[in-house]
Amino acid sequence: MPDIAANIKRIHASLPEGVTLCAVSKFHPVEALREAYDAGQRVFGESRVQELLAKTGQLPADVRWHFIGHLQTNKVRQLVGRVAMIESVDSERLLHLIDSESERAGTVSRVLMQLHVAAEETKFGFTPEELIDFFRRRAFESLRATHICGVMGMASNTDDSERVKADFMRIADTFRAIRTDIAPDLRGFDTVSMGMSGDYRTAIECGSTLVRIGTDIFGERQY
Ligand SMILES: *Cc1c(COP(=O)(O)O)cnc(C)c1O
Repeated sequence: MPDIAANIKRIHASLPEGVTLCAVSKFHPVEALREAYDAGQRVFGESRVQELLAKTGQLPADVRWHFIGHLQTNKVRQLVGRVAMIESVDSERLLHLIDSESERAGTVSRVLMQLHVAAEETKFGFTPEELIDFFRRRAFESLRATHICGVMGMASNTDDSERVKADFMRIADTFRAIRTDIAPDLRGFDTVSMGMSGDYRTAIECGSTLVRIGTDIFGERQY
């Protein structure tokens, strides 16, 4: 069994100031999350709506839940108002649905726009060009109950460290272009979520402010 508390403390101690740890607890039992909570962890990431909702009631109210998986449009209503952040907005349609459901629920959703830069075909998200176009069109101005806080992305799943680094640099460069040139007036656009167990050190070198770590904390997932 992994020593969850020790892992949490080790990772927290290794993160530079300004980098937040999201403990990715998908497929792990509530007891494992409680161990992490008792070691001081407050941000947890889940990738399935039902699993997240089942866990929220079993942990203290000061946990900040991040949704990190592909969000189906028919699950948006269940999720809105229950999470601190939806990191995985992968289409404009989804964004506008989150917005209308948030307004309806009388809440404000905080979201990240998911970038797709990795080699794998199956990953969801905007290409850098699509996301830049979205901000150039100022499509965010019509949002009434959604706050775009930054971007999220993954590097290619490869041992080629140069490729991983290039992917992270593309995510970080896209973020910086939006923030400094394209939409400098967009307030609170300050989060770059990138880096998982195998590559978070590289992600931090490239400018990550939020790392999403599962296996390094909780051990292998039992699917
Ligand atoms: C599962 C998952 C992670 C965590 O991956 P590990 O390799 O276990 O650290 C991070 N981000 C997303 C989007 C995930 O789905």
